[in-house]
Formats: sequence, structure tokens, C-alpha cells
Amino acid sequence: MEYFRLRGTGVSPGIAVGEVLLSERIVFTSRKNGIKKEYIGRELKRLDVSIHRTGKQLKKLKEEIGKRVGSDHSFIFEAHLFILQDNCLISRIKEIIKDERCRAERAISKVFEEYSRMFKSIEDEYFKQREYDLKDVLSKIYLNLKSDKKLKEDDGKEKILVAHDLLPSEAASRLSKGNVLAVALDIGGTTSHTAILARSLNIPAVMGLSQVTRKVKDGDTLIVDGTNGEVLINPPLAIRREFGSKQKKYDSYVRELKKTAKLESRTLDRVRFFPFANIELPEEADLAFSMGAEGVGLFRTEFIFFQRKDLPSEQEHYKIYSQVAKNAGKKPVYIRTVDIGGEKNFPQLSIEKEPNPALGLRGFRLSLRERKHFKIQLRAILRASALYKNVRIMLPMITGIEEIEEAKLIIGEIKEELKDQKFKYDENIPLGIMIEVPAAAAVSDSLVKEVDYISIGTNDLIQYYLAVDRSNELVSYLFKPLHPSVLRLLKFIIDSANKEKKEVTVCGEMAADPLSALALLGLGMKRFSMNPIFIPKIKKTLRSVEYKSVQMIVEKALALKTAREVEEHFLESVLSKHPEALLATEAS
Ligand code: PEP
Ligand code: MG
Repeated sequence: MEYFRLRGTGVSPGIAVGEVLLSERIVFTSRKNGIKKEYIGRELKRLDVSIHRTGKQLKKLKEEIGKRVGSDHSFIFEAHLFILQDNCLISRIKEIIKDERCRAERAISKVFEEYSRMFKSIEDEYFKQREYDLKDVLSKIYLNLKSDKKLKEDDGKEKILVAHDLLPSEAASRLSKGNVLAVALDIGGTTSHTAILARSLNIPAVMGLSQVTRKVKDGDTLIVDGTNGEVLINPPLAIRREFGSKQKKYDSYVRELKKTAKLESRTLDRVRFFPFANIELPEEADLAFSMGAEGVGLFRTEFIFFQRKDLPSEQEHYKIYSQVAKNAGKKPVYIRTVDIGGEKNFPQLSIEKEPNPALGLRGFRLSLRERKHFKIQLRAILRASALYKNVRIMLPMITGIEEIEEAKLIIGEIKEELKDQKFKYDENIPLGIMIEVPAAAAVSDSLVKEVDYISIGTNDLIQYYLAVDRSNELVSYLFKPLHPSVLRLLKFIIDSANKEKKEVTVCGEMAADPLSALALLGLGMKRFSMNPIFIPKIKKTLRSVEYKSVQMIVEKALALKTAREVEEHFLESVLSKHPEALLATEAS
């Protein structure tokens, strides 16, 4: 057996060793063999039977998955049932059977080709997702044409699932059974539905491996390292042992971190801090709370837009926000209004091509121009605030007071409208801004007086302050959260909020890095919002230190000249005083 090592993207952390279960790929037929006229009726009947069978399967799957992993994941089947009832789609298949006198298999394949061609001409995330759903439904109808189909059934044994790609329904039904040790796919990435599902079920997964399905066969031994994005096919014994011990180490690390999720968020000297989650999809909220998130510190709502071809209606916005608010219960949910523009483009809003998009019509600036859509979103956020009174409005890319005044006017108007229309909302819904433009940071002492809270978006703040494009690899070595200039700026912002007794949160990636989180704590930060998977680690770090001593360490750091000096000073001082804070943060 040949040994291979493949690199991909680790989308769900953890290590698993096991036997391969290679998932079959559905290949639509390209055979055009015609049939006699008198068989057309038979083909139409076969199609009807298959559609009926598919409907029954989808309803059953919807029920089962709803019970096993919750309704968040069974909504796919509802969408698929809709597709199945789409008259245009079914009529087109029937039309091809009649016009071309062909078998149902060929007609389904042709319809899929037609739709694929249409999808290919549109570069849009939402459309890509719809193509997926359509393929999923057509595949089911295709397979159901054969009553005696021999699908490869899994035998219930624990295996590593390898596939070119997993259709959403396949992912939901296979992963929720509890016998998938890990997943390895040729294509896909971090934000795919399968990736989100794998993370929420704690199944290690690596995607984007491009040719894993060509290199493996059923029964091969595989190691999937979801933390490092690696897959090892038929590894020699020594490597299996090495990964076996890595796996044990990782599993005990996770067990320990999970315990941390339930512990109090306090430093050794009992200073309270709050770990929050940054989420992009409503489905991520539950995972976040299980990781110890005490609220959703940043809901990046633009991802609702990226998943569709059109603009969401007020009711659609409302459904999503109220679902997250409900899952959060008493915990706060900071809903950021759309931050589109810059590198996050959305073709449906026909934003002009800008010479320098990062400095252009982005975030709140775009919302002011697209006032109609901004109002729709705000109405939905306000309505969702009525349910549990835990929702907050957060505005991105704010530069000055005029923008806050404008926002308040719009929110005031919407409140009046809602009142007239007898809609309920939280009269005291907190309004806050992101501090991510250096100008806003410099006047944060006056801005903070105008709002209920502020949240520091260090990803953008550092990019604009240090003039380093956050997504440009060539200058990434200059992106230094611990640069003394950044620390001084952060100190000013945090002090400004604390002086006014207003809440201040940090919601950039900086909050998820142990050393930077300590620096923030030392500057007086108590609210840390980050990707949920980092919460236990940061919580463990902050629980291992004394607030007072970290404050002293940071005070000295503020007088240093370079980021390197700050880092060295930090590592030395923290490690000598609280070694557990940094030593216990890695699994391998
Ligand atoms: C930030 O800029 O730090 C932030 C949290 O916002 P985003 O990463 O979505 O721009
Ligand atoms: Mg930002």
C-alpha cells in the first residue's frame, strides 16, 4: 500500500485515525440513446414515481436530522422540498423526455447541464450554493429512478468519510449518525455547510485536498489532521504511533478546554472578564455557547447577503436575528449592520468600481447611501429586540459624530414607524459603534459619550493605523498588534470608555491571540469577542493571571520602542510570573 501525504485546509480541528469509506460520486449520464415514442409514457411515469419517492425521503430526513442535530440543520431539507415542488424544473425534465424521446436519466442530466451553464455565468456565492442544492435534489431523483438501486450503505462501523464533495443533505445525514471519525474532501473550504456542521459536531475535517478521492480506496488507512490541514494515506506504523499520541494529547486538551468553558470567567485576583463570540451564520451560535461564549459580541450580518442572489426581506432578516436572540437567552447579541464594500463586495447593490475600495464606500457609508436596505435591516433588528431585550445595534466603519447623529435620526424614525404599525421593540436598545477608523479612535473620548458602548475592530483599526493591507501577504509581517503605537492608541480608547463607564469590547482577531489578549487585559479590557473555537483557550489564559500584575507588565510595555521589544518583554514577564497562561494554550 502506497503512502501519501496531502495538504488541504483544516476546517474542523482534531485528529482521527481510521479506515476509509469512499463516498460514491453521482455522475449524470451523457448517453443520448433515444427511445420509441410508445415508451415516453413509461419514462414520465418513472419520473413521477421517483419524484414521489424523493419527496418521502426528504421529509423523513428532515424529521430525523431535526431530532438528531437540531432544526438549524434540517432547514436544508425544507429548501429541497421546495425545489422538488418547482413546476418549472419538473416540467422542463418532462418536456425533454417528450421532445427528445429520451430516458428520464438523460433528461435530468440535461436539465442539470442547462442550470449549471446559467449558474456559471454568475459569480455569486448565493448562486453557487443554489447550484449545489439543485444538484442535490436532481441527484436524488436520478438515483430514485432505479427501484433496485444498490447504494453503498454504511455498515454502521466507525470510518473516515472521503468524498469529492458532500451535498448538503448527504453531509447532514452522514455526519449526524455518530460513526464518522473524520472527513476528507477534494473541494470545499471553511465556510461551507459541511465545514460548519463538522465543527459543531466536533468531527475533524480537511477540505480542498483536490485529489484525495483518486488516491484512496475503501479499506485504506487514513490519518486526518484537521488542526494542521493534513491527510496521510496508509502511513507507516511509526507515523501512526506518532499521530496516535498526538490524537490522545489533542483529545485531552479539548476535554480540559471544555471543562474551562464551564468555569467562571475571572482572573486569579477575581477580576471578571467576558468571552464573546464572533459569528457569521446563525447556526454558529450554539457551538459558541457550548464553548463558553457569554454572548455574541459580533454578528457579521453581511454573510446573510453573501448567501443569496437577492436582497433579504425584513421578515427574513427578522427570522435570523430572532433565532440568534432566542438561542442566546439572557446573553447579549451585538448585531452589526452590514459591512459591505472594501474587499467584501455584493454585486446586487451595484457598487461602482472604486480605485481604493478599503478607503471607499464601505460599511456605514454604504448603508447611508443604500438607506432603503439599511432601514429594512434596522426594522428587523429592532423587532427582534422586543423578544428577549438582549439585542444591540452596532455600526461599522464610523469616522465621526455626524454619522452617529444621522444613525440616531434614522433609528428614531423607524421606532416611530414601528410604533404606528403596532410592532414591539426594546425601547432602550443599546446603540454602539465599531472603532476601526484611526480618526474615530483619536476622538473616541467624545464619540463614546454619544453611544451606549464601543467595540474595537482591531483588524481594520490596525490596517488603517499602520497602513498595512490586512489581506496582503507581502506586507503581513508589518501587521503588528503589539506595536507600541497600537498599544498607546488602544489605551486611549479603552481609557475613554472606562472613564465614561461605558462598555468597551474588542472584536478583532487580536482578542483570540493569548499574548495580545493579555496585553488588552492589562490595558483595562474586559470584553473579548472572537471566533468561538478560540474561546476556551483565551479563557484559560486569562484565568491563569493576576489582573494587577498584567497591568504592571503592560505599563512597562507602553514605554518600549518596537513590537519586538514588547513581545519579548511580555513573554519574559508573563512566563516568569504566570507560566500556565501561555504554556497551556497549545495542543501539540
Ligand atoms: C475588525 O475590523 O476588527 C472587525 C472585527 O471587523 P471585520 O473583520 O468584519 O472587518
Ligand atoms: Mg472591520
